[in-house]
Amino acid sequence: MFSPADRRRRIGRVSDSGPEEVALAVRTAFAAASGWEQTPVAERAACLERTADLLEADMGRLIALCCREGGKTIADGIAEVREAADFCRYYAARARELFAEPIELPGPTGERNRLSLHGRGVFACISPWNFPVAIFCGQIAAALAAGNAVVAKPAEQTPLTAVQVVELCHRAGIPGNVLQLVLGDGPSVGMPLVADPRIGGVAFTGGLDTARAINRALAERPGPIVPLIAETGGQNAMMLDSSALPEQAVADILASSFQSAGQRCSALRVLYVQEDVAPRLLEMLAGAMAELRIGDPWDLSTDVGPIIDEAARERLAEHCARMEREGRLIYRCDLPPGAEHGCFFPPQVFEIDDIGRIGGEVFGPVLHVIRYPAEHLDMVIEAINATGYGLTFGIQSRIGRTVEHVTSRMRAGNLYVNRNMIGAVVGVQPFGGEGLSGTGPKAGGPHYLLRFATERALSVNT
Ligand code: GLU
Repeated sequence: MFSPADRRRRIGRVSDSGPEEVALAVRTAFAAASGWEQTPVAERAACLERTADLLEADMGRLIALCCREGGKTIADGIAEVREAADFCRYYAARARELFAEPIELPGPTGERNRLSLHGRGVFACISPWNFPVAIFCGQIAAALAAGNAVVAKPAEQTPLTAVQVVELCHRAGIPGNVLQLVLGDGPSVGMPLVADPRIGGVAFTGGLDTARAINRALAERPGPIVPLIAETGGQNAMMLDSSALPEQAVADILASSFQSAGQRCSALRVLYVQEDVAPRLLEMLAGAMAELRIGDPWDLSTDVGPIIDEAARERLAEHCARMEREGRLIYRCDLPPGAEHGCFFPPQVFEIDDIGRIGGEVFGPVLHVIRYPAEHLDMVIEAINATGYGLTFGIQSRIGRTVEHVTSRMRAGNLYVNRNMIGAVVGVQPFGGEGLSGTGPKAGGPHYLLRFATERALSVNT
């Protein structure tokens, strides 16, 4: 493993799991699942709460891992660990509410009816490199809280962080056999994992193509039909009209587009600016971008760190070359000296004439801008909805009826008004999209655990 900030720096070695190890992990978790399901929910929840405490106690090491292995800035690393602890505590609390007592239902005289929730068996939790602590831990915590055993498969780019988190979970009292970890890439480890008929459900966050491949593998394998909870990408847009406060809007655009080097599903990709205010706003945006500090994520003053790997850089470079031909470059940040040793990609903004030019999700620090005349408001809404994605959306406007008109028509899972579009807070802004962006239910929301569980109705003739 090499650091994305400096490919000359080796940060560790890992060996990938082979097919026997994947099968062994599933077999072990499968054998342990019913014992965990029978464990009182209060005890399962207590394990997760202890995990949250240990995550916080080990914050320094986890931030260092996020930074060295994932290229995350220190501020992003702190937010990661906090979010992971939030997931553990939130799902523990929800599990206590949902799983402790069955719901008593009405019945005819002489009959008692109850509805209870149970784990589904073994969940495969397949997580991305962009949140190697928070999303990795959030999926596991939800599956465990609902009474499932887990086989976790982190992204192949961030295994060292995953190992550390799993060690903390085990130290917190989650039995080793109940939480298994397998390492490797999607084709050789993820696919055999989901194709195993003993897997009772899959939680996945990552690309749309992979979500489709998992869906196919689940449909084709022998065994039960099981849920897939998929959170995929976005083609996230923000609309900005002439009533927006420009200073605030620019700060929000900067954070939404370039924080975490744009490597968030929630990140802003397309900014629609009302044409009357576009010249001033774009000038201010370029001025603000010139102040961004790009560099070593370990340096506290860095705003934008590296992107994850060389393959990502090539994809972004290819996309930007096409945008330069088909649109107009508005601003491109300079890279600092020494950047050639790492996977750095300069934040940049292009003006284009149509959202369709972008193609699929562009996962990096690239913003596209489209000007619109005020009377085209509905056409803009239509164009954004027509992408088929529906993850995050932002609007900067101080006109209440415009905000109401737009937000009530926009098909997106998380809508943000006069603020940035990233950093959904667990239990406060349940996160997840619709359409091409995912299946729901929303992570960090009150309904998430339900999808990890199965329901049983008990009718007793008394
Ligand atoms: N939940 C994160 C946010 O609100 C994004 C998660 C992701 O990139 O998958 O920014």
